[in-house]
Amino acid sequence: MTSTSTSPSAKFLTAQRSELLSRRESYLADMARSTATALELTEDGANQDMADEDGFGEGDTLNVERDRLLVVASEAKERVAEIDAALARVDAGTYGACEACGKPIPEARLEVVPEATLCVNCKTGASLRRK
Ligand SMILES: [Zn+2]
Repeated sequence: MTSTSTSPSAKFLTAQRSELLSRRESYLADMARSTATALELTEDGANQDMADEDGFGEGDTLNVERDRLLVVASEAKERVAEIDAALARVDAGTYGACEACGKPIPEARLEVVPEATLCVNCKTGASLRRK
């Protein structure tokens, strides 16, 4: 019956775990789709460069689009890594504690950002310092 204020309920953890898993799926899909499209652009771009030496403009556009897709893919990959880390914290029983100050992150925040590692205070402090 005794539950410490720092440990989220098992029900909450179960919900967060399934949310994390579904987000993980969608980021993996984004990553695969962006990578595949970027590869297609790379092949098309290479063919175009060989076929038409005046085609620099289009090649540049393709390069920009390809780079954008690769950024999308690498961001998705980072999110997957964050989600994996969050899932590991669920398993380890440390999920929901702020990594910086150790205080519990409010469940409302975790519902919006299930992979969050910092409470709002620390997060705000960190991004202010970065700027
Ligand atoms: Zn904190």
